[in-house]
Amino acid sequence: MQAPSLTAQMAEFRAPPGTHDVLPPQSARWERLVALFARRAGRAGYQLVVTPVFEELAVFSRVGVETDVVRKEMYDFLDKGGRRLALRPEGTAPVVRAFVQHRPLTPFKAWYAAPSFRYERPQAGRYRQHHQLGVEALGTEDPELDVEVVTLAYEVCREVGLAGVTLLLNSLGDDACRPPYLGALAAYLAERAGQLCDEHRERAAANPLRVLDCKREACATATADAPRLLDNLCDACRQHFEQVTAGLSALGVPFTLAPRLVRGLDYYTRTTFELQSPALDAAQNALGGGGRYGRLAESLGGPPTPGIGFGVGVERILLAADHEGVFPPPASAVDVWVVDTTGGREATRLAHRLRTAGVACDRSFDGRSMKAQLKSADRAGARLAAIVGAHEAAAGTVTLKDLATGEQEEVPREDVAKLVEERLR
Ligand code: AMP
Repeated sequence: MQAPSLTAQMAEFRAPPGTHDVLPPQSARWERLVALFARRAGRAGYQLVVTPVFEELAVFSRVGVETDVVRKEMYDFLDKGGRRLALRPEGTAPVVRAFVQHRPLTPFKAWYAAPSFRYERPQAGRYRQHHQLGVEALGTEDPELDVEVVTLAYEVCREVGLAGVTLLLNSLGDDACRPPYLGALAAYLAERAGQLCDEHRERAAANPLRVLDCKREACATATADAPRLLDNLCDACRQHFEQVTAGLSALGVPFTLAPRLVRGLDYYTRTTFELQSPALDAAQNALGGGGRYGRLAESLGGPPTPGIGFGVGVERILLAADHEGVFPPPASAVDVWVVDTTGGREATRLAHRLRTAGVACDRSFDGRSMKAQLKSADRAGARLAAIVGAHEAAAGTVTLKDLATGEQEEVPREDVAKLVEERLR
């Protein structure tokens, strides 16, 4: 049998379904968004926490065995040592696992930027690998912390320039008021089982709250008059919620009460919230969300420690920004293009000098012509060209050319960084 030819063996590989590459110039927006988030979170006392991309599967099972994330979407696998692991589907459980493991002082305030993995049907705004920016704060039940966390999520979206963001707010109660409410809701649903969608006819008893969140017409109609948890909160939860809403109002953060907002994961208690963008399709319009969790630390083996956090999706925020025409990629990656017609070593030295002085500059390679190098400068969006030809090399000078006006000036090499900075200012 003839061996297959080399070209036949060489497949053209593509990123796996539901994943995507982020290339320039889009990657510059990505970088800017992470920096914006880090700055905002840092200013509020949150510090970076990095956790592994995979954890023991059981860490994530704790977020709720009845949830889609755990039931259907987990990227779990056995490693070579026979450990049952899973790629992180969300950001909260790993941070709380790290908190439980290391027991830092409380309040513990962390932010993260983390790829997350869910085996979902890929579509616009829904990927198998997406990226979340989030915070977690553990160690206090103070409603003022809820106000801080919710406000931070909202302000991040605002700083990106998203105009139409809606903040939905709900309380999921606690161990005192939720169980009796769930009983009442389950009884209500049992009476209407025949009217629910196929999925929830089966699962309503196991997770009645999820039915409220179901987007299908049948469930929406059947639950139109269902009892609302917001009307059935215990005194402590009601007071907590009132303080959160009052705190948000005091800061001028607009919110909409959303008694049906239950969120995907099981661990939430009291405050839950979601940020939605009207610029996105209804099925994928959540930019992010989060809430309080009362027992997650305990269920991961730690001392009972209340916490609150949120995650926003990088891809979703950038998609919403595209739709609204805000947060564009920067026009240029570098300010200066170094042009060298003497072979290339001069460009190496001059670029090094400028970069050391803090100037963003790039240069051409392969000994290309002056014209080709200036074309590269244009394509990169540089504002200035710093040119070294035979004359400049001999004279110890550099010709600075303003690429918009064409104006140029020959300057001593020692002064070039200072003069470039002045012109860029
Ligand atoms: P969740 O934990 O499901 O509330 O997710 C938090 C945020 O992450 C969502 O509001 C989205 O912005 C984003 N997100 C969740 N799942 C996906 C996905 N499959 N693809 C893209 N973004 C996602």
